[in-house]
Amino acid sequence: MNEIKDYVVYPDDIKIYVPPTMPAKQNKFYKNLVYVVCAAISKFCIRAGSTIEKINMEGLKPPYIVLSNHTQFADFLVSFRATRPYNFNNIATLDGYVGMSKIMENLGCACHRKFTTDISLVRAVHKVIHEYKDILYMYPEARYTNIGTTSLIPDVVAKLVKKNKVPLVIMLHHGNYLNAPFWDFRQYRKVPFKATMKQVLTAEQIQAMSVEEINEVIQREMYYDDYKWQKENNIRITENFRADGLNKVLYKCPHCLAEGQTVGKGIHLTCEACGKKWEMTELGEMKALEGETEFSHIPDWYEWERECVRKELLDGTYNFEDTVHIHSLPGTDFIDLGEGKVTHDLENGFIVTGHYNGHDFRIQRSTKSLFTLHNEFLYKKLGKTDAFDVSVKDDSFYCIPSKKDVVMKLMFATEEAYKIVNGK
Ligand SMILES: [Zn+2]
Repeated sequence: MNEIKDYVVYPDDIKIYVPPTMPAKQNKFYKNLVYVVCAAISKFCIRAGSTIEKINMEGLKPPYIVLSNHTQFADFLVSFRATRPYNFNNIATLDGYVGMSKIMENLGCACHRKFTTDISLVRAVHKVIHEYKDILYMYPEARYTNIGTTSLIPDVVAKLVKKNKVPLVIMLHHGNYLNAPFWDFRQYRKVPFKATMKQVLTAEQIQAMSVEEINEVIQREMYYDDYKWQKENNIRITENFRADGLNKVLYKCPHCLAEGQTVGKGIHLTCEACGKKWEMTELGEMKALEGETEFSHIPDWYEWERECVRKELLDGTYNFEDTVHIHSLPGTDFIDLGEGKVTHDLENGFIVTGHYNGHDFRIQRSTKSLFTLHNEFLYKKLGKTDAFDVSVKDDSFYCIPSKKDVVMKLMFATEEAYKIVNGK
């Protein structure tokens, strides 16, 4: 029998390139080049205009820290415009480097593996702020929003802000998510972009505050709900494909409780198990065609699904098992590891098993060590498929499930299991 390893053994002829964790000073040529490319790509989605409102920003010069929500690719273009004429260094995750290492390095990005503990990140931030004296730009949710609301922001972000003692700016993008929601980001709805860039704390205030107090400000100021914003601003989305793919996030039927049976197509979401049908209105609300509308506000439906998963975890009925296709990302290139298996439960966390290069492997990530799970929808780099990834210190395992619409539930299960074992 083969020895089972807790890492993957790669053949000697595979070159693994891991970008430096220390960011370089931003290169002007690359900055301008990327700006032009971003502008060219973004013109397809920004058809209804883009505005940036600056609050308490007058006279503010780098170094400072920007925390931004992340909704889609065009956020990068808006951030380029908002920070002009200053240099900024992004904290970027390794998957962003796939096929783009040279550009990312010259842009001054600091490379980080998603949802792992990495002391080099602290040193990278220090270098940008205190040596380059530039803007440190960070997307603390480390993902595109799944449902147009704030994702989990770890407390460690407040520690970084406290440690560096420079002003804190919060950048919130509105409309970008509605334009190209993560679950159907290849089709653009006509929605105006509105960003607010606000200095929320001065260096002096940060000096006088505790980490907990800073964390409260971050959590409060980073709050957003794009469906609420849509209704408040009476933004009508008239495209007749607006519910395409909505089943990826609204995977559970609130009427018959079936999972993975919903289908989002056109302007409707339908449960194939019980036949119930809802319309996604022009104002982004759900309306049952017959009978009770269980949730008209889409994020409420999403949070109800989370609650259901939490109950399953607490009463011991939660368990996930699936055959998956695994691609690893030890450096900046994906490596196809073939078919494998993933299990997830409260007690053991994630266990990914497979066989590659003559060896069996078994990767485990405990419940206590993982506060959230990265997910992808229609991920182009792996053939336009849904995926989730389990990362360890020096490798990431992107798993393509065989079951339909399971990645959202897995993310809820990861976050709620983490809270349960940490007494929250
Ligand atoms: Zn149903």
